[in-house]
Amino acid sequence: MIVVMNSSATEENVKNVENIITSAGLHVHLSKGEETTIIGIVGDKTRVNTETLQAADGVEKIIQVTESYKLANRKFHPANTVIKVGGKDTDAVTIGGDQFVIMGGPCAVESYEEVKSAAECVKKSGAGMLRGGAYKPRTSPYSFQGLEEEGLKILHRVSRETGLPVISEVTSEEALKTAIPYLDMVQVGTRNMQNFALLKAVGKCGLPVMLKRGMAATIDEWLNAAEYILSSGNENVVLCERGIRTYETSTRNTLDISAVPVIKTKSHLPIIVDPSHASGVRAYIAPLSKAAAACGADGLMIETHPDPAKALSDGPQSLTFDMFENLCKDLTPLLSLQGRRL
Ligand code: PEP
Ligand code: MN
Repeated sequence: MIVVMNSSATEENVKNVENIITSAGLHVHLSKGEETTIIGIVGDKTRVNTETLQAADGVEKIIQVTESYKLANRKFHPANTVIKVGGKDTDAVTIGGDQFVIMGGPCAVESYEEVKSAAECVKKSGAGMLRGGAYKPRTSPYSFQGLEEEGLKILHRVSRETGLPVISEVTSEEALKTAIPYLDMVQVGTRNMQNFALLKAVGKCGLPVMLKRGMAATIDEWLNAAEYILSSGNENVVLCERGIRTYETSTRNTLDISAVPVIKTKSHLPIIVDPSHASGVRAYIAPLSKAAAACGADGLMIETHPDPAKALSDGPQSLTFDMFENLCKDLTPLLSLQGRRL
């Protein structure tokens, strides 16, 4: 349920409505816009008397929010959320505003030289962030599982050397604890989208979180997963569409490009697209990236490797550095049509 205040409502009117809600044991989520203030009610709404609220001074109307996610809901928070990443020991990027943030780097951290060369390509191309997997959630237990803390150290070092904020996936609460000091943003992967213990833990970790869509999750399940993070106290959540399982076998997954406008309608959270895991095929990354930019995504996550044929993970979908650089160049005029920049 949300309470929409009228345009002449005073601070005192807002405080009074907040008191009615909190004294019923419920939580308040305040969203102050230019014209109106919206007070979201989080918790068991049967505990609050709607008539009392409706009669309070300054109240314009009360709207029932039928969706189970509240804090992630655009009805609770009409303006787009803009999330800042980095800015202390690195450059700062903002996701969800005018900047279109491309997160580039290898699927897996293999060596310092590999990550350093990828970061130099990312930087030279004007992309905003470095990515790299240290904990790899591989389908087979016999595939390369990642360098873990050693990999995080490499990412951290390269990030500080290049000024690029760094993101990496955490696959467990233990990995999260280890990873926090090395990262600027944490990633929850597709396989953990409904790992609720991990979602609550990243909700308390103090870093912005990128939540990938579960490969078989509906958009509402995905937004409820984001709600776990938000309701644990972390407002800095970016969603990432990375393809879903369908009957199609020409691509690794099927990029659900419609997720971008659907999320923009249902939620205020930024959304980026990962065409690498969505397609699994190097040749499809550029066209899918352009489609994502054209339909309003806030950024991209793209895998790139100095020698994709030798990559320990996801070589077939990794771009060469030349391809990465050319893609960023090609995206620039498209983004400027929308008033956006890299
Ligand atoms: C990744 O980004 O490294 C990754 C494993 O992606 P996903 O969780 O989308 O498979
Ligand atoms: Mn990968």
